[in-house]
Amino acid sequence: MHKTHINMNVQSPEDLIQHQCLVFHHSLSYVKSMALKCAVELGIPNAIHRHGGSATLSDIVAGTGLPVSRLPYVQRLMNFLSICGVFTESNPPAAVTDGKKGEAVVYKTPMSRLLIDDGNKLSSLSCLVQFVVNPLLVNTFFDMHTWLKDEQASSTKSFFEMTHGCGRFEMAKSNADDNAMFNNAMVAASQITMEVILREAGCDIFGGLSSLVDVGGGHGAASAAISAAFPHVKCSVLDLPHVVDKAPADGTVQFIAGDMFEFIPKADAVLLKWVLHCWDDQDCVKILRLCREAIVPAREAVGKVIIIDIVMGAGSSQDTLSKETRALTDLYMMHLNGVERDERGWEKVIREAGFCDYKIVLVTALYSVIEAYP
Ligand code: SAH
Repeated sequence: MHKTHINMNVQSPEDLIQHQCLVFHHSLSYVKSMALKCAVELGIPNAIHRHGGSATLSDIVAGTGLPVSRLPYVQRLMNFLSICGVFTESNPPAAVTDGKKGEAVVYKTPMSRLLIDDGNKLSSLSCLVQFVVNPLLVNTFFDMHTWLKDEQASSTKSFFEMTHGCGRFEMAKSNADDNAMFNNAMVAASQITMEVILREAGCDIFGGLSSLVDVGGGHGAASAAISAAFPHVKCSVLDLPHVVDKAPADGTVQFIAGDMFEFIPKADAVLLKWVLHCWDDQDCVKILRLCREAIVPAREAVGKVIIIDIVMGAGSSQDTLSKETRALTDLYMMHLNGVERDERGWEKVIREAGFCDYKIVLVTALYSVIEAYP
């Protein structure tokens, strides 16, 4: 018999099983991401939506164009995703009619509704799933422990760089598919985020401005939303040339190709949305200093830098889902040497960059809005 160091006297058999179950659960958790990605790639949220919001497994197989023989596998996938709350599933009817067993019906949920990309790909979070659950990113996490052990390497390189030999944004520059996936994911996620911010605190944040520069603004989703809600605010987007080159130009937002470490155009306000969490404190202070210089000569009376990012630990909503999601995002940002800051972390970089004061204007489970005043 094998010797075991697990002492049965310390943990009861029930506890041992429970804790073993937890180890299984945590180790297998990546399968959840993969299952979600699989459903998105197959277009299952679209198929259920097209079928009126609920569909049998046969409808899903037909609606996604899968071979009929795949039905038992789709059943297992849908069963798992329904247990996770991505979809809901009714029990199959017990009665057998005409020798045919009834089928379970799968329903869309408010969450899976966000994954429907029929018609407009960029209005759906399916692009975000495809971006995050992607070998290019997932592979980097296999190097996390090696990176942590190697003090020399980890002080100069992110583990993304360790895996791929180039920085996160250099990869997007040289890999067209990655560039498209990155920008699309940001647009899709930004549209939802901005809808909430504009509804909750839009007037207070953007109402008094006449111009705004969206630094690291990607394809301009945030600027387009601000400009639609406040047409008197002249919005421009500064981003790297490979991003701006592919940006859709509808005339409402002006795109400027450049490097935010070198030059930031002048405006009443600078928006930094999901930018500063990509950088360590030193780079963050450099960016904030240049932003401060860009607003001060523009209009000192109203000038401000608007930061949209997570504030760890902020707000009364400390439920497990938001706590774990924020902590997951923080770990996720580690792959490119980024970090999610708590209020003290934000105050430190804001003050170091020379700002006199700051205010946290809005707090949600996933992001907050901070205003920094010169
Ligand atoms: N603000 C956008 C995108 C955030 S992702 C949104 O919220 O959706 C970070 C962005 O910073 C990317 O678009 C990236 O291309 C841009 N970026 C990275 N380094 C930059 C630099 N040196 N100068 C300008 N933009 C940069």
